[in-house]
Amino acid sequence: DMAPLTRIGLAGLAVMGQNLALNIAEKGFPISVYNRTTLKVDETVERAKQEGDLPLYGFHDPESFVKSIQKPRVIIILVKAGAPVDQTIKTLSVYMEKGDCIIDGGNEWYENTERREKALAELGLLYLGMGVSGGEDGARHGPSLMPGGSFEAYKHIEDILLKVAAQVPDSGPCVTYIGKGGSGNFVKMVHNGIEYGDMQLIAEAYDVLKSVGKLTNEELCQVFSEWNKGELLSFLIEITADIFGVKDDKGEGYLVDKVLDKTGMKGTGKWTVQQAAELSVAAPTIASSLDGRFLSGLKEERVEAAKVFKSSGIRDMLADQVVDKEKLIHDGWNLKLGQLTRIWKGGCIIRAVFLDRIKKAYDRNPNLPNLLVDPEFAKEIIERQSAWRRVVSIAINSGISTPGMSSSLAYFDTYRRSKLPANLVQAQRDYFGAHTYERIDIDGSFHTEWFKIA
Ligand code: NAP
Repeated sequence: DMAPLTRIGLAGLAVMGQNLALNIAEKGFPISVYNRTTLKVDETVERAKQEGDLPLYGFHDPESFVKSIQKPRVIIILVKAGAPVDQTIKTLSVYMEKGDCIIDGGNEWYENTERREKALAELGLLYLGMGVSGGEDGARHGPSLMPGGSFEAYKHIEDILLKVAAQVPDSGPCVTYIGKGGSGNFVKMVHNGIEYGDMQLIAEAYDVLKSVGKLTNEELCQVFSEWNKGELLSFLIEITADIFGVKDDKGEGYLVDKVLDKTGMKGTGKWTVQQAAELSVAAPTIASSLDGRFLSGLKEERVEAAKVFKSSGIRDMLADQVVDKEKLIHDGWNLKLGQLTRIWKGGCIIRAVFLDRIKKAYDRNPNLPNLLVDPEFAKEIIERQSAWRRVVSIAINSGISTPGMSSSLAYFDTYRRSKLPANLVQAQRDYFGAHTYERIDIDGSFHTEWFKIA
C-alpha cells in the first residue's frame, strides 16, 4: 500500500530507538522506521498498534525507508556508537538528497560527529549530534535532548523536539540548541560523567549505612524515601529507594543483595575523565567513580584479597565502630559539582531539584569560577563540612572505602587553601629537571642549582 510521506524517519530500533520512535509518533508526527535486523521493525510496528494505533510505518529496506519521508528528509539514527553509525550513514545517505539531515542520537564521541558533519556537508547533507538522556522511560515519555551541530538542521526538527522532550512546569521542554559541531555530544558525555559520580556517592552512602550502621533493606528504603522528599529529591534517589523494596523473585530475601557487585560501562564516564585530564580540570568525584567501576570488575581478585586480609583484623574494625544510627542517617549529604542547565531538570537520569539551585548560582554570577565559592553554596558547605568529615572518618575507621566522598572532600580541602605544599614539588622539579620556578615575592622565572647549595 502507498502510505503518505511521513514527517521524519528513525533508524536503529533497539531500546532507545524503538521508544523514541513511539514517542514521536504519539506526539502526532508520522514516522518511518528502519532497523538492520528486520525483526525489530516488525516488533516496533506491533507496539505502535498496541499502544494506540500510532502513525508509525515500518520498512525492511533502506531505500523505501528513506523515500517514504517528506523532503527535506530528517532521519534520526540510534545505533551503537562508533563504526555502526558510519555504516548506517553510508547505507542511508546514498538515497538522500541535498538539504536532507541526519541526526545521531547516540552517545557518540564528539570528534566523530565533527568528522561526519564535515564529510556530509560535502554531499549537501546537514548533520546533528544529539545527546538523548533518560534511558528507556525517558525516550518513550520525554527525554532530555542535547542537539548540537548544524543550526539549520536543528530548525528543521525544532517543532518535533519541543513536543517530544520532557516537559517541566515553569521550565519548559528539556531541549535547547547546544551549539556547533560536537557540542551536543560533549554536553551529553559530561552529563553521563556526572551521572557516574552521583551513582557512586549514593552507593557509598548505602555502603556506610549498611555496613557500619547495620541498616536493613527496609530501613534503607525508608531512609532513601525520606531523603527523596527533601532537597535530595531526584530520579536517582527515588529509584534507589525503590530498589531496596524489591524482593528476590528467585529466592529468599531482597534482590539487591543478589545482584553481582560488578558495574558495567559503555565509555562516556571514561571519556569525561579523559577530557577533564586533557583540559586540566580536576574532576575527582567522577574519576573516583570510574576507578570504582574498574575495581568492581576485579571481583575474583577482590574475593582472594579479602581472604588475605581477613585474619589481619581489618574486618573486626567494623564490629568496633560504635555509631548512632540516627546520626549516621542524618549526616547524609550529596555534593555535586558542575554547570548544569535547565534541560537536565526533566527527562534525564541526573534530574534533581538540586539543579535549580545550581542554575540560580550561575544566574547570580555567570562567571562563577567554581560552585563552591557561590555565597549560598559556600554557606552550606561551611555548615555541613563537619558532618561530611564525620561520615568519611567513620568510613575510614571502619575500613569501608568511600572514594567519591573522600576525594570530593580532598578536592574541597585543596581548593579552599590559599597555600599548598606545591612549592616543594616545584622545587623538586627544578632540582632534578631544571624546570624553573616562580617566586612569591619577585616576578620572573628562576632556576637554582639546588644540589650545589645543599
Ligand atoms: P545499542 O545496544 O547501543 O545498539 C543496538 C542497535 O545498533 C541495534 O539497532 C543494532 O541493529 C544497531 N547496530 C549495531 N551495529 C550495527 C551496524 N554495524 N550497522 C547497523 N546497525 C547496527 O542500542 P541502545 O541501547 O538503544 O542505544 C543506542 C544509542 O543510544 C547508543 O549510542 C547508546 O549509547 C545511546 N544511549 C543509550 C541509553 C540507554 O539507556 N540504553 C541511554 C542514552 C543513550 P541490529 O538490531 O541489526 O543488531
